[in-house]
Amino acid sequence: MSLQFNRRDFEYDVYTLVGAFYPGSRIKTWYEGEEAPEGEFAYYYSINYGQEQITFSMNGPGRSQFACCRLKDAGDRTETKNQLKRLVYRFLSEQTGKELPWGDLTGIRPTKIPMRLLEEGWSNVEIARHMRETYFTSNEKTALAIATANREKALLSQLDVEKGYSLYIGIPFCPSICLYCSFGSHPLKQWGHMMEPYLESLFRELAFISGRMSGRRLNTIYVGGGTPTTLEPPQLERLLSFVQEHFSFEHLKEFTVEAGRPDTITEEKLEVLRNHPVTRISINPQTMNQKTLDLIGRKHTVEETVETFHLARRMGFDNINMDLIVGLPGEGQEEVGATLKAVRELDPDSLTVHSLALKRATRLHLFKDQYEDISFENSEEIMRMTKECAMEMGMGPYYLYRQKNIAGNFENVGYAKVDKAGIYNILIMEEKQTIMAAGSGASTKFVFQQGTRIERVENVKDLKNYVERIDEMLERKRKGMELYGI
Ligand code: SF4
Repeated sequence: MSLQFNRRDFEYDVYTLVGAFYPGSRIKTWYEGEEAPEGEFAYYYSINYGQEQITFSMNGPGRSQFACCRLKDAGDRTETKNQLKRLVYRFLSEQTGKELPWGDLTGIRPTKIPMRLLEEGWSNVEIARHMRETYFTSNEKTALAIATANREKALLSQLDVEKGYSLYIGIPFCPSICLYCSFGSHPLKQWGHMMEPYLESLFRELAFISGRMSGRRLNTIYVGGGTPTTLEPPQLERLLSFVQEHFSFEHLKEFTVEAGRPDTITEEKLEVLRNHPVTRISINPQTMNQKTLDLIGRKHTVEETVETFHLARRMGFDNINMDLIVGLPGEGQEEVGATLKAVRELDPDSLTVHSLALKRATRLHLFKDQYEDISFENSEEIMRMTKECAMEMGMGPYYLYRQKNIAGNFENVGYAKVDKAGIYNILIMEEKQTIMAAGSGASTKFVFQQGTRIERVENVKDLKNYVERIDEMLERKRKGMELYGI
């Protein structure tokens, strides 16, 4: 379909909404005054912003329609955006007969709305009414967003978000690259020789951060990637010892190591983690169906997941998260049901359910023609199944976010038992606290005034470049901190 704008404003919101009503359709956007795109389109949409009103119109097979709304205050961008989205949503909903679970919300952090309103003293009932009337969110998603925001707020109240900060450490190596990976991880076989030089640079960056942040309280640490447990036991030991020597743990609430891939976890590595104050680990099956694991390039077995989970439990890990992905190729309700049954038997402490996102930089996207005979299914029913499984294990939602290109316009939800939530996950989503990030591709986020202002300093993504240009990475951080008065 063709989507024409008369000015460069709010294009992403309109584009995303049209895409959500017509999943899988190709949308060609263009601007008034430009040459019309070549080809025939089933529908021609156009949006026209005037001084006082916005018009949304459609020319389709055998019919034309339009709708317009008078702007309440053209100078108020937030209100204008809300009015525009409501107009487009109502129009498309009428045209397609569909309602979207998240209504006209197009952002990736839907809990930010209830969180802000809770902080302003609104009641849950008032927030629910506001969300349904303003954004047309379904009852179920409204309840999910409000429940999550309440739990986030309670968890964050344990921290001094202004004085504290969090630390992210990236280990960008994996045993093999998953079909859907968009993290820019590096397969060990080709890149294993870079591990030592990488650690050297990483230690320099960590030492820099510890020196510059010595006056602030470190609240959470997250070691992610990649797969941190691709490090050999002595390397893991050196990394964790280095962190312990250089940072004060006096105010530390959480120390997560994302073990991630079961094929990298050994008793020796878990022993290293036990010898340091790691409070939370993640063992991620993604699916408990071997056929799918083979297809998506995760070179581990279902048995390995089960065995490493039991091993970790026996060794005393009392806060284990498991990540699942729904919408994986070839998986429908039956396959997801089998995964949930196996996970329920293991009884982890938290469960993070991701909806598959078809990002451009993934192998799945690059070679999508090879997978055109395989179905990619996610549905409200599948999301409900995952929620029920989490509830049966005594978990409730504690963080959620959405991604662009997510299968079926759904969301990613973190569920956890009481006292087992991953606080770092909330901090990264709600953007309430500064996160100092070390490693290739790591993005440091300086958060001011409870998230009303955010500034970023990025490291280069390329592993080799990170190692070779580590001085420049430190300089970027130093300059950023100077500029933002940290
Ligand atoms: S384990 Fe995670 S980081 Fe590693 S390749 Fe798979 S998706 Fe990417």
